Amino acid sequence: MTDNLSKKQIAALKEQLQITEAELSSLLQISEQSADVVELDQSRVGRLSRMDAMQQQQMASAGKHRLQLQLTLITKAIKKIADDSYGYCIECDEIIAYARLQIRPESELCIDCQNNQEIGQ
Ligand SMILES: [Zn+2]
Repeated sequence: MTDNLSKKQIAALKEQLQITEAELSSLLQISEQSADVVELDQSRVGRLSRMDAMQQQQMASAGKHRLQLQLTLITKAIKKIADDSYGYCIECDEIIAYARLQIRPESELCIDCQNNQEIGQ
């Protein structure tokens, strides 16, 4: 059985989560502004560059979607730390290894469940 996370470990992960949360929020703000620019430009560009612009916008919104998804996970993780339910796999309820949380503190799945999910996709 894996040990519970220590208070010190949780504090370190929480700090990391909060830093990433702030970074993602500002990144999302920037990407929202640049999506607006593409929108405005479309009225005065030709067909080809318009397609370019649309493609760029699609890429930008895909990137934005990823950022939003990650931000949601991070916000969830911070809430879980607050109510003491952080660090458990949402699939099997096992403790998620600290080594894994250090790399991805927003992880909701243990490594086994994550692997299973990737195979299933
Ligand atoms: Zn699991």
